[in-house]
Amino acid sequence: MLLHGKTAIVTGSTSGIGLAYAKALAGAGASVMINGFGEAGAIDAERAALAEASGAKAAYSDADMADPAAIAAMVARCADELGPPDIAIANAGIQHVARIEDFPIEKWDAIIAINLSAAWHLMRAVVPHMKARGWGRIICTASAHSLVASPNKSAYVAAKHGIAGLVKTIALETARDGITVNAISPGYVWTPLVENQIPDTMATRGLTREQVINDVLLAAQPTKAFVTPEQVAALALWLCRDEAGSMTGANLSMDGGWTAQ
Ligand code: NAD
Repeated sequence: MLLHGKTAIVTGSTSGIGLAYAKALAGAGASVMINGFGEAGAIDAERAALAEASGAKAAYSDADMADPAAIAAMVARCADELGPPDIAIANAGIQHVARIEDFPIEKWDAIIAINLSAAWHLMRAVVPHMKARGWGRIICTASAHSLVASPNKSAYVAAKHGIAGLVKTIALETARDGITVNAISPGYVWTPLVENQIPDTMATRGLTREQVINDVLLAAQPTKAFVTPEQVAALALWLCRDEAGSMTGANLSMDGGWTAQ
């Protein structure tokens, strides 16, 4: 299998796009450490299914991506229990939708910590392992919002634009080490993160649920279809191939044409 003998960490992988990454990597034979929040029984069932799919070990870390020490400890535990990380995907993310004058300061701080700083802390911890082995794949789930903005998402847009710059910088720092660093920038993907922002957008803009889906979310997406988590995961899997070794520092859009406009 493509990733037999490789070890991967995927943050925010108890749900949505992260879980799709974990399934794709395990399906290709990688030993995977998943991370995120959720119900313990459901998470353990996912972990067991990943081990079954890969024929390798799978582990779960409850590290809070808002806590730098917990991120470093997660990487150290991965190296001890599964092996040094060859693949690291910074994916955990949260959203809050509000006008700037109503935006809670603690939401700004949490979004910057989880959506941006956590990726930096993850890279800081995994790069030495990858350099030592002369091979690595770092992927960040950015967003169309790393390239364009939408109103009422100041923290999210700032964090995702930050990810685009972080990816370029670490790609340059690791370019001679067999490591690639790329961002994947999806448009709207149907996951709990999107579903959960519908009520706030309904309240902020005074719209019905159907209007939010069709006139706000899919308004930006020329295909008029949500991206699927599996489509995003298939691109990440391709980035892990040796043939992708010259692709680094890229911000790859998968947004149904949104940012082509
Ligand atoms: P989701 O809500 O389904 O999953 C988010 C994951 O992050 C969950 O596993 C959750 O437990 C975890 N998480 C949240 N806070 C955490 C924390 N403090 N520490 C550790 N884990 C934490 O969301 P999703 O839509 O799959 O989003 C995944 C990524 O994709 C995010 O970075 C998001 O910004 C990005 N993204 C999503 C879309 C979309 O339309 N869904 C579009 C573009 C980018």
